[in-house]
Amino acid sequence: MFYIADEEKIKANYTTDVYFVRTVQVLKAKGISKKVKMEVFLKRTPNNYPWGIFAGLEDVLHLFEGDNVDIYALPEGTLFYPGEPVMTIVGNYEDFAMRETAMLGFICQATGIATKAARIKKLAGDKLVVHFGARRMHPAITPMIERAAYIGGMDGVATLAGAEAIGKNPVGTMPHALMLIVGDTVKAAMFFDEVISEDVPRIVLIDTFMDEKFESIRVAQELGEKLSGIRLDTPSSRRGDFRKIVEEVRWELDIRGFKHVKILVSGGIDEGSVAELRDVVDSFGVGTSVSAAKTFDFSFDIVEVEDKVLAKRGKMSGAKNLWLCDKCGWRKVALMSEERVICSSCGIPMKSLTEKFMEKGKIVSPLPAADKIREYVLSQVKKVEL
Ligand SMILES: [Zn+2]
Repeated sequence: MFYIADEEKIKANYTTDVYFVRTVQVLKAKGISKKVKMEVFLKRTPNNYPWGIFAGLEDVLHLFEGDNVDIYALPEGTLFYPGEPVMTIVGNYEDFAMRETAMLGFICQATGIATKAARIKKLAGDKLVVHFGARRMHPAITPMIERAAYIGGMDGVATLAGAEAIGKNPVGTMPHALMLIVGDTVKAAMFFDEVISEDVPRIVLIDTFMDEKFESIRVAQELGEKLSGIRLDTPSSRRGDFRKIVEEVRWELDIRGFKHVKILVSGGIDEGSVAELRDVVDSFGVGTSVSAAKTFDFSFDIVEVEDKVLAKRGKMSGAKNLWLCDKCGWRKVALMSEERVICSSCGIPMKSLTEKFMEKGKIVSPLPAADKIREYVLSQVKKVEL
């Protein structure tokens, strides 16, 4: 019915580039079977971001489940820099060559989204950021997008499928359609309050018909304590000085005793608008900037053949682990064969960030819940600059 490849087609390598199919044909016809170690690696981040947040590993493990391969990787949510190996796959090349296209697709896009979400959350600080961007992308990948946005640091997601993927309730306000069909903002807010379960915060959209200030006051006077917030979704063409509008609404609500009413803004929110508005609003609805985040163009290269180091021109040979000094934060890439690496400035053993996740097609390391990954991301992002 739709132009999509479902899980079965992806597992059956139907989304592979055909040159992998032909490579496997050649190798099989010639009876060539060699064990290789292949590394997933990034030369350059999009937009020259200094770091990325590695995401998509769980899907990759499910892709390779049942294949005769071992997988070593950074745990999902690990902050990494260009040049650091994020994943190494070990097996006979012809056994997994046709997985490459799908594998890269899983991590290139999820990492782009998680990284953008982490950057926006870092800028927003303790202000809430909610992901509203599902509508900009293909619906078949909504759960992946919203999970990556959440583990990157978004505080909530808007769709039913996305919320299910992270084990949360979806977050939402009111669309302009409700206001227009009911015909009046206050009336629509009252109907919503009558009908919708009490545990859903009453966040009323106030820019449909009239001036944001007067609509906010009317809604606050009608719902009183029950009103938890108002949303401004003014299109950029009508915004003028948006910050001034928000400040004015805040002032008018405060002097009338509605200090409890939060202000949420949405519509074209990106890093710049978050930095500009974070001190005058309480939360942001973030859409396209996160859901359509630029992908990270990881490559997948052979680094060892039959346990001998070998790589193409411009690529460092040998399977590698990434090590971190817990004390000073120093990072070092070393050959996987090295079992102990000492921090050269602290003189203490470093910790390997690379872990074994798969052995002969079986997942051997527990996969953490989205909440745990998100906490891990936030703890690392706190310590770095944008
Ligand atoms: Zn150190």
